[in-house]
Amino acid sequence: MYELSTLYAAFEQYFGHPPTRIARAPGRVNLIGEHTDYNDGFVFPMALDRATYVAARPRNDQIVRVFSIKFRDEDQFDLQQIVRDERRQWVNYIRGVAKGLLARDLPLRGADLMIDSDVPAGSGLSSSAALEVAVGYTFQLLNNINLLGEELALVAQGAEHTFVGVKCGIMDQLIAALGEAGHALLIDCRDLSYRPVPIPAEARVVVCDSGVRHRLAGSEYNQRRAGCEEAVRLLKPALGKIQALRDVRSSDLAMYGHLLPPDLLPLARHVVSENERTLAAAEALAAGDLVKMGQLMVASHVSLRDDYRVSVRELDTLVDLALAAPGCFGSRMTGGGFGGSTVSLVAADHVDAFVAAMVDGYAIRTGRKLQPLVCTAGAGVSCVYASEEE
Ligand code: ADP
Ligand code: MG
Repeated sequence: MYELSTLYAAFEQYFGHPPTRIARAPGRVNLIGEHTDYNDGFVFPMALDRATYVAARPRNDQIVRVFSIKFRDEDQFDLQQIVRDERRQWVNYIRGVAKGLLARDLPLRGADLMIDSDVPAGSGLSSSAALEVAVGYTFQLLNNINLLGEELALVAQGAEHTFVGVKCGIMDQLIAALGEAGHALLIDCRDLSYRPVPIPAEARVVVCDSGVRHRLAGSEYNQRRAGCEEAVRLLKPALGKIQALRDVRSSDLAMYGHLLPPDLLPLARHVVSENERTLAAAEALAAGDLVKMGQLMVASHVSLRDDYRVSVRELDTLVDLALAAPGCFGSRMTGGGFGGSTVSLVAADHVDAFVAAMVDGYAIRTGRKLQPLVCTAGAGVSCVYASEEE
């Protein structure tokens, strides 16, 4: 559990007065639905019980001062002229969100902000979206702005696209804004509609960071994206009005797969089958069928490994270890691939034995130290402290 009093005291000591608001927004893990978002398909993430916290106090000028506890670094900018910082990436998330709100004609006053987080950064748990959404919501609180969660998510995504330079989908920001405690969200990336699905109380979600990151991830990602677009172009003459792989069924591929060259057929097969699995997974979880949910997660991993080819040895090792560990219903790589984390669905009463088996197994197989995170589904963005003064 994160200690709010630590952040409160640190704010008071640094800025010389106490915060008037503290907001939080969670990290997330995607249970299933990988590489479907940019194909207009479905994703099924859950918000974590780990979050990024922003303590804040309004100022009487147009200056924003931000201190990040993690980076032990301060940023200062003027709301009248917000520009990208070419040297320090972390400040661009905050500047980009402020700029995005102002661009929507939402007037902002200056603020003192202090940021802390218990979402590990760079592990694929979307500490970036947690930061953007928490900061955006903080500005809302300080300026009495009401935005729908979807709008806040779009402002946050816009900041990441334009100020940070990462062309991410909308999943991370949407779940950070709209997540519900005890639930995963089935999100339709085409129209941003979503449905909360309760996670059975007897289940735990365990995230294992492989510790591996590949520099090629960006170019490989772009190649896959382009491949999916090309597959749609080639299938169009046979299937008519399809806009994206979202509109293709497995039965269509069985009939018209020969229209695709050998390198594109497996890509299309992954996306099409993954969309079907994601919808089936939401049904399974809603029915409390953890066995079925686990089977779909394993099928997702196999498809990502063999058809989409975005797994790496360490992720495959983690999945193998998980499937042999106590209480595991299913396991898969989560996130874009080429490193990052796995997500496993585990019986709550076996979770300690599961974690121990994973740590031992990974050390033996790879020599790497594993720090599994046992997660329950947290809530989306919220205000966790408001002072009496204004
Ligand atoms: P992920 O979103 O998977 O954690 P990203 O590379 O997208 O990984 O985002 C991580 C970046 O977000 C960090 O390098 C930093 O720039 C920013 N960030 C995350 N948490 C904080 C924090 N507590 N304070 C300042 N910046 C942060
Ligand atoms: Mg990110």
